[in-house]
Amino acid sequence: MTTDNKYGEPMLVLQQVQQSGGQLHPEWQVGHTDGYTHFPQFESDVAGQMMQDLEYLASADYLDKLFFDRLSICPACGSHHVNVREACSSCKSTHISPVALLHHFRCGYVAPAETFAHDGKGRICPKCHGRLTDLGTDHDVPGENFTCHNCHASFQVPEVEGLCMSCLTRTPGDQLLHKDIHSYRLNSLGMAALSNGRLFDQEEAQLLEGEGRPIYRRHVFMFLLEDEMRRARRYGTAFSLIMLRLPGDDAKTEELVFHMAVMLRNSDKIGRHDNDRLMIMMPATDRSGAEIWLKRFLAGAGGELQASVIALDPAGDLEKQLTASEAQSWST
Ligand SMILES: [Zn+2]
Ligand SMILES: [Zn+2]
Ligand SMILES: [Zn+2]
Repeated sequence: MTTDNKYGEPMLVLQQVQQSGGQLHPEWQVGHTDGYTHFPQFESDVAGQMMQDLEYLASADYLDKLFFDRLSICPACGSHHVNVREACSSCKSTHISPVALLHHFRCGYVAPAETFAHDGKGRICPKCHGRLTDLGTDHDVPGENFTCHNCHASFQVPEVEGLCMSCLTRTPGDQLLHKDIHSYRLNSLGMAALSNGRLFDQEEAQLLEGEGRPIYRRHVFMFLLEDEMRRARRYGTAFSLIMLRLPGDDAKTEELVFHMAVMLRNSDKIGRHDNDRLMIMMPATDRSGAEIWLKRFLAGAGGELQASVIALDPAGDLEKQLTASEAQSWST
């Protein structure tokens, strides 16, 4: 892994996402192996490298990855040019047609409608020679069958198969591969890196506390918060901060943080304040929105928990305001 490259190219890709209005959607490109490209203006090898950078930025949490589309892929050659169609369940021919069925109540006979001859007054049942006159009273239409013009088989459910238009491999529908295509959206960490002019270095890159908990280290979280305050000052965007006192029991804390992470959006971030307090930053959320969320969270968390939404003045000093908030009364 060459770190020089890691911290050079991804930054340019991050700027590309910013220039696309903060969200990069894939564009349909029929000649492309994947059917979609995120960088239509670049040669395919450059676009491939940029795609890797995009994935790196998402894995390092600078971008949120959002589902866009799912493609069927040929397992033999990887092409998305797969023609999906119905085929005969016996001989696999695609020369099949649906056939309407009739069901004669009196004798229970079911067969294609064309085998019930018409005598001018109604259809005649080929089995019992009774007359079918009134739909719903003496017969009904139980649905469709398929008939194969190649082997003359008759079947209810045709098989689904994919014909690859690149390599001509035929694959049963349930054995086709699938590939998910994503959009990429700038998040608060990505915006912080952009205003910082660079990605965070290795040491800073250990953004989260260990053990798989989605808690940002204090210095990282303060950086994100400062950045959100800057945006609020400049553009008047709303954001909210919640301060929460931990139960002081490791197992309970673990459970609580898990529950919290499930209830939060991708764009919300959990950060460390001190040993027994966590902060939750909610971009694009006003105070009443944060209070509604907190109420729901506390109701689901059960037990005695202290937490409150902190009123922050984006023009004021962040550290001072956090210290002052410690004196604020806790809502439980
Ligand atoms: Zn193929
Ligand atoms: Zn057939
Ligand atoms: Zn009959």
